[in-house]
Amino acid sequence: MVPYRSLFLLLLTCLIIQSCKSGEEFSGFSYDPEGATVTTDKKIQLQHKRTIGISADGIWVSNEFDGARMSNFYQVNDSLYRLIIEAENYPVNNSPWYAFKIHSDSTREIDLQLSYKEGDHRYIPKLSSNGKQWQPIADSNIQVDTSGTATLRLSLDDGQPLWISAQELLTYNNMLYWADSIRSTSPTQLDTVGYSHQQRPVVKMTIGQAASTQPQGVLIITGRQHPPEVTGGLASQVFIETLAADTPLANSFREEFEIRAYPLVNPDGVQGGHWRHNGAGVDLNRDWQAFNQPETRAIRDDLLPLKDDANRSVYYGIDFHSTNENIFYPINRDITTFPDDFTYRWIEDLEKVFPATHFAVEPFDTSSPIAKNWIFHTFGADAVTYEVDDRADRQKLRRVSQEAAQIIMRKLLDEWEKSNSNAQ
Ligand SMILES: [Zn+2]
Repeated sequence: MVPYRSLFLLLLTCLIIQSCKSGEEFSGFSYDPEGATVTTDKKIQLQHKRTIGISADGIWVSNEFDGARMSNFYQVNDSLYRLIIEAENYPVNNSPWYAFKIHSDSTREIDLQLSYKEGDHRYIPKLSSNGKQWQPIADSNIQVDTSGTATLRLSLDDGQPLWISAQELLTYNNMLYWADSIRSTSPTQLDTVGYSHQQRPVVKMTIGQAASTQPQGVLIITGRQHPPEVTGGLASQVFIETLAADTPLANSFREEFEIRAYPLVNPDGVQGGHWRHNGAGVDLNRDWQAFNQPETRAIRDDLLPLKDDANRSVYYGIDFHSTNENIFYPINRDITTFPDDFTYRWIEDLEKVFPATHFAVEPFDTSSPIAKNWIFHTFGADAVTYEVDDRADRQKLRRVSQEAAQIIMRKLLDEWEKSNSNAQ
């Protein structure tokens, strides 16, 4: 007999703890809202790009730049203004991204309330006078209330714009410029492997001896599937820079390994200031089974030929993200990967170098439709989802990411030697 009552209780429990999800990012702020794994196109609300304000007060806000998000703006009373921030479509995770410029015709202080449609305040505002250098707002100038809105006390200088953003801006153009700069330290080829919904190139960086007909290992890197996850984006940059550096270790690594990096999987989301989705309102990191979206399809089609390439073997995959803590999602230890247990051994070494830093590790099965699992299922390789704390100290983030890359290079070279001596 079917135990209906138990089934009902199980369902109820799932609803309450919200963890019976096919996605893996259920920790902290991250969870899958209903329908996240249905990855067919959804309708998104295109952002109205404009500069609006209260002319009597001489206060103006603008979202007319890459990566901006601001839906509406109005005055509440003499000194309080409210900015409305909406997502690209709903339902969506609580990753309420915002970025806008504000200026006043006179020098004055105002209170600005950030009000999120179907979201709670999450990101500490970063302020900038030029859109390039950023400072987190002082604790004394922000108040978050129980309804999930945040009120900022802002000092505006006569006519000088103040940029306010959920995280420092790391736009599509910034990433392209950065990818190009990698060529100065090692041979790097940039290719367009496909186009997003809004026809932006999905770019691949091939670092190493791509033309080599000698057997080589392959390391796959993906990043920025989720637009607000800037700390993951910054970590991926440092990581790739370390692999591409002109150092003895990196040079030896690139003798045996080729790096295939797709550092900006979701260009439309990043440019549009989306909370999570691509230009078709879909969470790309839930589309690695159905492949309904052009961005994921492009990367899959670019990587699939490696399966039949006798001179290339995929050793490892890393997918960079951000959440409210430093956390790694390895493949469950009881599943055999090649190389086996690589993520665990790598993290153990990383913890030895940073004994005071907490790295959470939460193993996961391989059923969810995410990038890491596709790499495992397709190539048998070990892979990890590498999540960086939203609030990570940026200097520390750089040190950890650099060290992580160095350990991975050493360990992959060991694995390379092991399999090559076995083969002889
Ligand atoms: Zn993510």
